[in-house]
Order: sequence, then C-alpha cells, then structure tokens
Amino acid sequence: MTKILLIYTGGTIGMIKNPITGELESFNFKHIHDHVPELNRLNVQIESISFNEPIDSSEMNLEHWRLMSELVDEHYHLFDGFVILHGSDTMAFSASALSFMLQGLKKPIVFTGSQLPIGTIRTDGKENLITAIEIAGMKDSQGEAILQEVAVYFEYSLYRGNRSSKISANQFEAFQSPNYPELAKAGVQIEWQKDRLFRTELSEFKVFTSFKNNVALIRLFPGMNFEFYRSIFADQQVEAIVLETYGSGNAPSDVLFQELVTSFLERGGIVLNITQCGSGAVQQGAYQTSSFFERMGVISGRNLTSEAAITKLMYLLGSTSENIREKLQESLVGEMD
Ligand code: ASP
Repeated sequence: MTKILLIYTGGTIGMIKNPITGELESFNFKHIHDHVPELNRLNVQIESISFNEPIDSSEMNLEHWRLMSELVDEHYHLFDGFVILHGSDTMAFSASALSFMLQGLKKPIVFTGSQLPIGTIRTDGKENLITAIEIAGMKDSQGEAILQEVAVYFEYSLYRGNRSSKISANQFEAFQSPNYPELAKAGVQIEWQKDRLFRTELSEFKVFTSFKNNVALIRLFPGMNFEFYRSIFADQQVEAIVLETYGSGNAPSDVLFQELVTSFLERGGIVLNITQCGSGAVQQGAYQTSSFFERMGVISGRNLTSEAAITKLMYLLGSTSENIREKLQESLVGEMD
C-alpha cells in the first residue's frame, strides 16, 4: 500500500476553536484521523509527525527548513510521498527553500494548509489535505511517482513550489504561480500536465541545509529616501541584496542610489534584480532606467518570485560554490525561465 508521511509544522489547518474561549488552538496532530475521518477511507497508509511546538508560519526560519528537510531525509526510503502541513503565510518561502535543500528529489513533497481551521464547518482544510495526500501517492503506469518535486496544493490547483506566491489573505484561492502554469488541477479527476513537471538530473538524493541568511531585500518606491538604506549597503555582513524594481527591472537614476549599488558591487556584493510586478520578467537594458544595472554587473533575476530569489541566494551563499553569479543565471530546480 502507498505510504504517505504527513509532517505538521503548524498553521491554521491544524487548529480548532476552543469552545469556551473562542480562540484558535493547535490540536494534537496524532488525532488527525478523529478530525478528518475521511482519511480512513483513503487507500493509503498515513503516518504523521508533528513539530514539537507547531508554529504560526510567520515564525518560520532557516532552522525550521532544516528540520523539515531532515525529517524528509530520515524517512525518504520508507515513504512514497510527503505532505507538509504549513501555515499559508510563508508557505511559498518554505516550498522554495526546500526545493533547493532537497537535491536529487524523486518523490513528491506537497505543501498544503488552509484558510479556515479543519474543525470549522466551511473549512477548506479537508479538501486541501485529502487531495494533497492523493497527489503525493499518485504513480504512473511504471510505478514511478508522478510528482518528483516540491509543490504547493491549494484550492484545486497544484503549483511548483518555487514558482508560487500567496496572493490572498482571505480567499480560499490563496496561491498563484503567475509565471509558470499549474502542474495539475483537481476536478473530478486529477488532471496532470505532465510536460510541466520537473525531473532532476542528479542520480542521488541528498539534503543540503547550510543556508546563509546574509541577504537583504529592498523594494523600490517613488520618492524613497536612499539615505535610510546606506547602512544596508555598507554593512559588511550583507553579501547579497535582492532589489525589487519596477516593471521590467527599472529604477530611478538617483545619484546616491547608484553610488550605493556601485560601492556594494565593488566590494564583491551581489545584487539580484527582480520585478515587483506579479508576473513577467526583468529585462535589463530594455529601458534607459535599467541600463545602469546592466553596465554595473547587477544580475537579472528574470522571472523569479521574491520567495525563490531570497531562498536561492541563501542556498548559493551557503554552498561552497565560487561561481554564485553564474549559478544565479541558471535555473537550478525549475525556479525561472
Ligand atoms: N497565520 C497562519 C500561518 O501562516 C495562517 C495560515 O495558517 O494560513 O501560520
């Protein structure tokens, strides 16, 4: 029988309302079958593990990503697939991070969560959980897992993890992947788009968890006072800056801004240019307002999401790789075109 490991990290999905206080509280995840009896009817053997202290996903950090990856590693050969239950707020960051941590992955990792707790009548949690388990257990006619990458399942859509972003705080359809189409859609059946699925070229599965968080994120806005950002550019600990620029990678020709970027690059810093638009890509040099970046050696992040840009840098800074600049321009695990 297909075996799936559920890893509960926290978030709304694993909460019930305390009938006395009315507050949302995490329930003991060992009792998940009591809250979702439908799980007993799935033709899948499910085991579950929970973080000792489940967290709101706002608390997520590199340690939690390491923990999740190590749990997958420890159980990799014992299970056919993994479903990670996670708060939706930072799910796209975790899915992106794990796509870089779990190298040579040939099994499904499906992140899911919900907007309403599993114990409420109109919860989206049950459908998300049940379908995520079904997807994580699906095999092709050769007995191979259909999904062999990190994905996010939410409200009938399966997205590549490192292409997804949370786009709504209150709609059930909380995620989107604007620069890469869905991997599958859940209707009466699960409709896979097999040509969109990622396949690793690595023969061995290994986990790399030494991420480094010497990364800063700066989002441009009209009228911003670059004086306030001087300390970030000057801080010797900051090794890379993700710049969220306008449109196809444009920025103002402000003298101080250009000076700060130039001196940061001259001392070996990396600047990765991504767009603050929800979809589309950076094209440095398309406008005069981005040709400065092109001249100075700012790297185009093309159509990376912020989540993927930050976690890719954390991964590359943490790896011993000397050719970070080249690696940034390659798509490593399907994170950009
Ligand atoms: N604040 C919650 C979290 O991200 C929301 C959710 O679970 O969807 O942990």
